[in-house]
Amino acid sequence: MSIAAAPSSDAAAASAPLSPLKVATATVVHKFGGTSVADAERYRHVAQLLLARDEAVQVTVVSAMKGVTDALIALAERAAEDAPQWRDDWHALRARHRGAAVALLGEHSGPTVEWLDARFDHLAEVLAALGVIGGLPPEVLDRVQGLGEVYSAHLLGYYFRSIGHDCAVLDARDVLVVDRGELGVDVDWEQSALRLAEWREANPGPRVVATGFVARDRRDRITTLGRNGSDYSGAIFAALFNADELHIWTDVDGVLSADPRVVPEAVQLEALSYDEACELAYFGAKVVHPQTMSPAIERGLPIIIRNTFQPDHPGTRITGERTVGGPIKGLTLSPDLALLNLEGTGLIGVPGTAERVFAALRNAHVSVVMISQGSSEHSICCVVRQAEAAAARAALLQAFAHELSVGQVQRVQLTGNVSVLAAVGDGMAGQPGVAARLFESLGRAQVNILAIAQGSSERNISVAVDSGQATKALRAAHAGFWLSPQTFSVGVIGPGNVGAALLDQLLATHGGLLARANVDLRLRAVASRSRMRLEPRGLSGDWRAALAGQGEASDLDKFTEHLQSAHLPHALIIDCSGSAEVAERYAGWLAAGIHVVTPNKQAGAGPLARYHAIREAAATSGARFRYEATVGAGLPVITTLRDLVDTGDEILAIDGIFSGTLAWLFNKYDGQAPFSQLVTEARRLGYTEPDPRDDLSGVDVARKLVILAREAGRELSLEQVQVESLVPASLRESSVADFMAGLSSVDAAFAERLAQAKARGAVLRYVARLSNEGAQVGLVELPVSHAFANLRLTDNVVSFTTRRYCDNPLVVQGPGAGPEVTAAGVFADVLRVAAGEGARL
Ligand code: ADP
Ligand code: ASP
Ligand code: MG
Repeated sequence: MSIAAAPSSDAAAASAPLSPLKVATATVVHKFGGTSVADAERYRHVAQLLLARDEAVQVTVVSAMKGVTDALIALAERAAEDAPQWRDDWHALRARHRGAAVALLGEHSGPTVEWLDARFDHLAEVLAALGVIGGLPPEVLDRVQGLGEVYSAHLLGYYFRSIGHDCAVLDARDVLVVDRGELGVDVDWEQSALRLAEWREANPGPRVVATGFVARDRRDRITTLGRNGSDYSGAIFAALFNADELHIWTDVDGVLSADPRVVPEAVQLEALSYDEACELAYFGAKVVHPQTMSPAIERGLPIIIRNTFQPDHPGTRITGERTVGGPIKGLTLSPDLALLNLEGTGLIGVPGTAERVFAALRNAHVSVVMISQGSSEHSICCVVRQAEAAAARAALLQAFAHELSVGQVQRVQLTGNVSVLAAVGDGMAGQPGVAARLFESLGRAQVNILAIAQGSSERNISVAVDSGQATKALRAAHAGFWLSPQTFSVGVIGPGNVGAALLDQLLATHGGLLARANVDLRLRAVASRSRMRLEPRGLSGDWRAALAGQGEASDLDKFTEHLQSAHLPHALIIDCSGSAEVAERYAGWLAAGIHVVTPNKQAGAGPLARYHAIREAAATSGARFRYEATVGAGLPVITTLRDLVDTGDEILAIDGIFSGTLAWLFNKYDGQAPFSQLVTEARRLGYTEPDPRDDLSGVDVARKLVILAREAGRELSLEQVQVESLVPASLRESSVADFMAGLSSVDAAFAERLAQAKARGAVLRYVARLSNEGAQVGLVELPVSHAFANLRLTDNVVSFTTRRYCDNPLVVQGPGAGPEVTAAGVFADVLRVAAGEGARL
């Protein structure tokens, strides 16, 4: 059918002939997807976009308006069930098309509306007949589901005409002849070319609008090219018209490194080889239909995927050329699959098993998505579509009935709810470590791999995973190949002094870390003892207001679930609470793959059983437990100790001053002012805990010593540390005020000890010591020349005497207290966790 522009139209004159200097010679086929023709406004935009191009022959293939194919299929199914509401849906669909015609064509819309009405009346007859038959024959479904393209092409054609541009509408059902086989759709090129030539004789003009998706089979029945098939129509027409280029217009800037609906950080790819595009499309990248490439490959025809909404963007160019950037170009997910596993000792070394498996599946018309067989030949497994899984299993049970009955085959197992994640790129060929990187990313994100396959073309590595983990897997792999940032779902517990400083630091550095190191530490939850705030997309700005504002009652179960449910590859909890109750949860979190970072000493110095449970959980799951800030705040004490141990050194002794408060007190205490007065001053300066007995009792120092001892490989408990408390027994139970008031009672004793030390040329220091003789913390006399006697006021110091550092110990020294430096110590641990997960820091 052809629609010619009225020769007298003013608008026709406006479409000026091409300038003689610039004669367009190219034949270009454009394909617009449903997303590009959702309504009248979009048709207008598409037409303008096409008119702006200089092309000698311009063929435009269109899809149905967005959602129309789905609506037609639903309509046919309803009518076949004889469900009366199909009539309402039919009315709605007709109204949508009529509305588009009126909006597009205005006063000229009369004939188009009439034309549409006639088509819809015919459709209603077909649907009514379905109700009578009480079924939906595939031929009828094909006929109905392709109608959207017919309506759509006419709308665009009539519109061109209404604005004065000559245009012929090509109904692909008149020219395109195809065969629908098991391997997809095969074009009868000869017949199609013949029919097109005939059609061109009657319609020789330079502008053609053609229907996508629809065709006719060799028996002259109307058929379709399969869902999303208009892309393929575009390629077929490009071949038939001998085009120079095929432009596929959609709603994204081209092919992206992953489905943007699952991985919002997906990046646009400038170029792809045909092979890469095929792999991506076959494994689920919806942006282009997998068969699109085949007509193009034979002819070397470039395909350009581009954005109707950003016509100036260059899009993605798909050609025969290979452009290798990283090893991986893109990742896809295919959902709704199942894993079929045939297992038996009788299969080992028996030739022909694979053949029998695939023959059985072929006979049952089951297509195999992925195959994997271990070299032990004990089992053979393949991935099939969920919809065909039951038939596939039945086929194998039947084919191996004899082997099953005599026990040579133990089982035919079916695992449903499976997705296949595929990593694609020409660049992986011959390059070691690509698979390792994929598996490492998945492993770190706690994704269990059910089966693996890599073809010898080395262009695709596929892994089958549980669909429940598929999104997380895709995001983890995407980040693992540096295609998007390493994202952590972060929760902070205990926004007290250290917690608040940490939250401020986390939020202040978020943007910088993202830009510099591609790490996204996304703060998604904050919990205090009473309130918490869970934020699906991540908190930014004023976390204090957020917690005070729309918070809810604290619930650590909910907090945990929220952090994990994000499909983000990694979850991390930072516990700044100091609570034993929270520490009780560490093992559970670690076992679930959540990393734990904390300045809380309850775990490191708490009961040995809990400590071991935490270590075991971390070792089993691979999640990390870090608590550097528990000793020496931001100083690298535990890290240094770990390095010593890990490199095979032996720790002989650890000595140190681990309390900034006690360091200050004894640095200051020279006998001038009484000891109790210094305690009062330290408290006023904020150097002590609110109850100074927490510092003076020495328990905190003892806890730190326990932590270091355990890191050094000793099984030490707090009870085994000899602690000299500086709090007299009489004041241990009283209130803080009474304690402060009564503290002068110790002044004389301290003065006496100091005098004795001075007489021996020594000073007093509160020191922790771990050696072969045991673990002690308490007040000792040190010669004035001793390193510990000459520190800055609140400095911490830790001295490691080891087999290597035996004459001259390794010393870590510096400010060891204060919220800012402690938070920085915690933050450094967080970054170590991120680096351990592959972030480039
Ligand atoms: P059209 O109607 O134009 O044919 P489709 O909806 O069929 O559009 O395909 C485009 C959509 O494919 C995009 O909007 C995007 O959400 C999705 N998509 C899935 N995987 C990819 C990918 N790797 N690159 C780009 N888009 C993708
Ligand atoms: N309209 C058809 C579909 O939705 C074909 C296409 O859009 O490519 O599958
Ligand atoms: Mg599509």
